[in-house]
Amino acid sequence: MDKIDSLIDGFVADGWKSEPFEAMLAIWREHPDDIPRLVINIVDRLPDGGTFLDAALSYLPEEDFAVAVEHAWAAIERRGHSRATDAVMEYASLQVPHLLTPYLERFFTLMPNEGSYFDVLPWRAADGAELRRLRRILASDQPAAIRRRAWRCLHAASDLADVSVLAEHYVVMGHDAPVEGYLLETGIDVSTTPPRRLTTEHVLHLSFRRDYFTESRSSHMERKNHPTWDPPADRSGIELGFGGTVTGRACGNCGDDFDGLVELTGEAAELIEVGQRVQLVTCLTCLGWEIEVMFFAHNDAGVPTAIALPSELSEPQFPAGSLARTTVVLTETPTRWRAQEWGSANSRENLNRVGGDPTWVQSAEYPDCPRCDQLMPFIMQIDSELPDSDGAEWLWGSGGICFVFWCEQCAVSATLWQCT
Ligand SMILES: [Zn+2]
Ligand SMILES: [Zn+2]
Repeated sequence: MDKIDSLIDGFVADGWKSEPFEAMLAIWREHPDDIPRLVINIVDRLPDGGTFLDAALSYLPEEDFAVAVEHAWAAIERRGHSRATDAVMEYASLQVPHLLTPYLERFFTLMPNEGSYFDVLPWRAADGAELRRLRRILASDQPAAIRRRAWRCLHAASDLADVSVLAEHYVVMGHDAPVEGYLLETGIDVSTTPPRRLTTEHVLHLSFRRDYFTESRSSHMERKNHPTWDPPADRSGIELGFGGTVTGRACGNCGDDFDGLVELTGEAAELIEVGQRVQLVTCLTCLGWEIEVMFFAHNDAGVPTAIALPSELSEPQFPAGSLARTTVVLTETPTRWRAQEWGSANSRENLNRVGGDPTWVQSAEYPDCPRCDQLMPFIMQIDSELPDSDGAEWLWGSGGICFVFWCEQCAVSATLWQCT
């Protein structure tokens, strides 16, 4: 029997007991050319989808995504959207948004996923004609619901040139909160003239050695099963020191050693534009529990000193070790993985990243630099479930992400974490 039929029939008959995830992985390993047909069959026959469809989309070659999008779109037009068509649109929005450009106008009218967190993500790659169309709708006398939709799509397109249009028409959203907060969600800081981005185009991934991880994970979360964990075969890229403690430097809050995040030197420091050399640190014991945002001033050699702390040492609630020391390789992120979302990653993807947009777990949160009061640009993030010095998996809160920021003019770094 055909492996795809047997996966789908098995799931229809026995649900998760049929181990569809393992069956999907076997198809990917043994017959990778069958992945496009698998995706299309799931869309047709398992409209409720499943996490194995989400994962299968990670293995769908970029050149085959167009067929999957076309197929999912035809299914939406025929019978409305389903969990499976949503998954195709969600992952296409992130990984291959340019493929959705031809559908945007019809998508706008139908808005099959309205209300989901990814409903306007397809507009990430909106072209000039589509942006002009959205601006015309905003300025028109169409019903408020349509103009609100246009506002959200234009906002998702995140073009600096549209900041004033978004501010002008913000009233249609009917929110009390200032528009500035909304614009920060796409990394745009309007407190400066002209407005600027707090994020970079350039994205790199921290690539870990396989033997760094000791914990075994279930197959749907195994790191070898997602391309974002795969370092290039030759591990080419810039090697950096990661984790460990930074002795001789104590956290001004608990008095313990700083915990090293990553040491940026030479080419890496240049890439991220943090000067010549910067030791990024935090305090695993204090961050988030004792102090919401920790700030560090760096001297010319990049050595950190904690700043903006309470005047007295405190007794920490949750004393912690450090992230296990290792070396990581900073590798260029393929275009497909530049945009990653917390929800869509679903614990499968490598979210240890430098540059690009932060994978916020909650609303966007850029700290103010304590020296110059300007918002601090984002430079990197470190995910949970990395090994710590106690041999356990480190979790930021309940399993969130630590975000790192950098004020270039003051040579100040900041760290904070968010979790669900
Ligand atoms: Zn501390
Ligand atoms: Zn500053």
